[in-house]
Amino acid sequence: MKAARFHQHGGPEVLRCEEVPDPEPAPGRAIVRVRACALNHLDLWQRRGLDRVRIPLPHISGADVSGEIVDGAGVFSAGTRVLLQPGLSCGRCAACREERDNECADYSLLGYMSDGGYAELISVPVENVIPIPDHVDFISAAAFPLTFLTAWHMLLARAALRSGDTVLVLAGSSGVGQAAIQVARVHGARVLATSAPSKMAAVRSLGADEVFDHYAEDFSRRARAATGGRGVDIVVEHVGEATWDRSVRALARGGRLVTCGATTGYRASVDLRHLFARQLSLLGSYMGRKPELLQASRLLFAGKLRPLIDEVVPLADVRRGHQRLEASQQVGKIVLQPGA
Ligand SMILES: [Zn+2]
Repeated sequence: MKAARFHQHGGPEVLRCEEVPDPEPAPGRAIVRVRACALNHLDLWQRRGLDRVRIPLPHISGADVSGEIVDGAGVFSAGTRVLLQPGLSCGRCAACREERDNECADYSLLGYMSDGGYAELISVPVENVIPIPDHVDFISAAAFPLTFLTAWHMLLARAALRSGDTVLVLAGSSGVGQAAIQVARVHGARVLATSAPSKMAAVRSLGADEVFDHYAEDFSRRARAATGGRGVDIVVEHVGEATWDRSVRALARGGRLVTCGATTGYRASVDLRHLFARQLSLLGSYMGRKPELLQASRLLFAGKLRPLIDEVVPLADVRRGHQRLEASQQVGKIVLQPGA
């Protein structure tokens, strides 16, 4: 099969589209013909190399996959249209047995320590296969799982979103941002967002009531003004160092800041007086649970959640896809298409 791999860490130029062996059938594993695979920031970290993690080389990235069953391990028939749950877990520990698979000590993602979806075929545990209806296209199905699962877990499980809450979503046109805006809206929240000026129209079209300039303005002041001075109930953070202070300042008394990433850097500080006196909650969130993905998928199938697609890129142009994501030029998800 054809796959995009890297043999050493580095810039986009280390990605090579080449012929590699097909995955072998194995007990309990399905083989899926990949029809689409969305890019994530995680893919960039893998390609550049991580401090404390040794990724097996050569490596095929790609956590967000849709396609058709080739070998369904006796569970699914060939040709079944599917998306893949991106989380991998042991299935045996207490967390797994209690359906908190994202708290499993062995939790990992497709395409992280094992080969992922930048390829014509992928082998996955059969438990990760989720059939999709015919009316859901492969591009949307691939653009959906990781970001919507992340946003769902952040807002509902961690930040305990209630109808009527005001939610501020940072970088509303990013993968997690566009998902968070939609998940918050569909659960009855009022949504404020930040974005680059060139992307504001797209962010509004997703359902954000007000959009602030991510770079030029103090969005914490704008968020306070938009809430009559009160501040927001929830901030969805994934930017990190560059925005952290303003994100904390945007919170109302009793507000919850939930974070799933730090694309601009890991170092942040907190004025503890604000934390206790205003009874703030700072919450970490990582991926989400499989039952949450099944719940969210029902809204995808019903057309109530729609991943925003930036561009569909042939597998052979994977370097260009990485460059675009790395330069934050995208509005929504960049999706690779093997066989295109
Ligand atoms: Zn486990």
